[in-house]
Amino acid sequence: MVFIGYKRLTLTEAPRLEITNITRRFGGRPVVDDVSLAVMPGQVTCLLGPSGCGKSTTLRIIAGVERADEGEIRMDGKLIAGGGVLVPPEARGTGLMFQDFALFPHLSVGDNVAFGLSGTRTEKRLRVRELLEKVGLHRYVDNFPHELSGGEQQRVALARALAPRPKIMLMDEPFSGLDNRLRDGIRDETLAVLKDEGTAVLLVTHEPEEAMRMADEIALMRRGRIVQRGAPYNIYNAPVDREAAAFFSDVN
Ligand code: ADP
Ligand code: MG
Repeated sequence: MVFIGYKRLTLTEAPRLEITNITRRFGGRPVVDDVSLAVMPGQVTCLLGPSGCGKSTTLRIIAGVERADEGEIRMDGKLIAGGGVLVPPEARGTGLMFQDFALFPHLSVGDNVAFGLSGTRTEKRLRVRELLEKVGLHRYVDNFPHELSGGEQQRVALARALAPRPKIMLMDEPFSGLDNRLRDGIRDETLAVLKDEGTAVLLVTHEPEEAMRMADEIALMRRGRIVQRGAPYNIYNAPVDREAAAFFSDVN
């Protein structure tokens, strides 16, 4: 029996995503330095750390758009990178959301969500409806992105990323472009949709508050390394050192 966060897991529950000893150097300098990390099915893991610590590079390596110099990545136990294996990004089963989530401006909301879907027209239409209903925007199925508010566009982007049922959602500071007044509400709505779909998530953020709000498990990163991991409550209450405590100090 092992404990991860508050959830008690049997050893038969395997990680959705597992990265082991990943290192990436730029000009000889390790930007990602021996990072190991697991994301369990249905859980949100936050990779949290200050700007420049290597979070986006880690996420890009997992997505397959950046290579690692060392280490291995497994999805549902299957090797997708490392040891001579390099599965291309589109075959990894990852969904992506970034700050600049740009919808296709010339496609309707419904066609944006349907974009990555395969199957018959009816199957696609049903999946689009299901997702737009989950994000509360089905009435806009035939509208165009510019007719929606920023927060609504964000929800359409979420629906689009979830439509093909990714094995894991990789989210890189997806809320940082949003108005302060909207952000908390959109974080909560996003979390509810992700939990409802049962999608595993690796969320990158430099904001402790966001990690505290959304994570089942936090991995605290600093200068390329993971320095602490655990449930949000535990990390907040027992930071590994003074630097970690200072980093959390403005969360209330
Ligand atoms: P974070 O997302 O935590 O802000 P990044 O992963 O974007 O950090 O970057 C970590 C460090 O790696 C930064 O110092 C950045 O300048 C450097 N870096 C990222 N990509 C490259 C690259 N392609 N070439 C050289 N340095 C890079
Ligand atoms: Mg970044």
